[in-house]
Amino acid sequence: MTHRRQHTSLPRRIGLLGGTFDPVHLAHLRLGEEAAEQLALDRVLFVLAPHPWRKAGRAITPVADRLAMLERALAGNPRFALSTVEIDRPGPTYTVETLAALHAEMGPVDLTFILGADALLDLPNWHRPDEIVRLARLAVVPRAGRRLPSRAELEARLPGLGAAIRLQMPRLAISSTDIRRMVAQGRSIRYLVPDAVAAYIAERGLYRGA
Ligand code: ATP
Ligand code: MG
Repeated sequence: MTHRRQHTSLPRRIGLLGGTFDPVHLAHLRLGEEAAEQLALDRVLFVLAPHPWRKAGRAITPVADRLAMLERALAGNPRFALSTVEIDRPGPTYTVETLAALHAEMGPVDLTFILGADALLDLPNWHRPDEIVRLARLAVVPRAGRRLPSRAELEARLPGLGAAIRLQMPRLAISSTDIRRMVAQGRSIRYLVPDAVAAYIAERGLYRGA
C-alpha cells in the first residue's frame, strides 16, 4: 500500500528537547547533537514551551522572538526540527500532553525525552510525571553545578526516573539566564549562541533591560 510505504519512510526514532529557549544557546544544540548521535535518532524535535508554568514569576520574551531565534539556530541541521506542538495548543502546556499528542499524530514512534540534570530533578513536580515516564524514554546529561543522583536515588524519587539513559557530553556551563544577564551588561555573547541568534538579539534589542 502506498499509504503504508509513506509511513515507513517517516522518522521513527524521535528525540524531544523541550525548553523555554530564552534564548536558545550552543549547549541546547550540542545536547541535541549528542543525543541524536548516541541514540541513533532520526530526528530531534525542539519543543518550544510558550508559557512555561514552572517559570511563572519572571518576564519571558514573546513567543514570536523565541521562535525566530530557535528557527535560525536549527537551520542547516537536517536532523533538527522545530516543533510548535505546544504553541498551537491553547492553555498551559504540560509535557505529558505533548507526548500524548505526538504519539497520536505520528503513530507508533519511539520517543526519547532529552533533558539536562536540572530538568530531570524537577520532573517529579511536573503534571502527571508517572505518565511522562510511561510515554517516553528519558535521556539526561549532567549540568554544571548540578550533581546527577545515582539511579537508585532517582528511582526513589519517581519510579522510572532511574532508567534515564545517561548521555556523554562535555560540560558546557552556558545558561539562558547568564546570556540574558550578559546582554543586559552590554557584554558580548559571541560563541555562546549561534551568530544568527546573536544578530537577532542585537537587531531586536532583546534582553537589554533584563
Ligand atoms: P534558563 O536559564 O532560562 O532556565 P536554560 O539555559 O536552563 O535557561 P532551558 O530552556 O530552561 O535553558 O532548558 C531547556 C533544556 O536544556 C533543559 O532540559 C535543560 O536542562 C537543558 N540545558 C540547558 N542548558 C544546558 C547546558 N548548559 N547543559 C546541559 N543541558 C542544558
Ligand atoms: Mg532552565
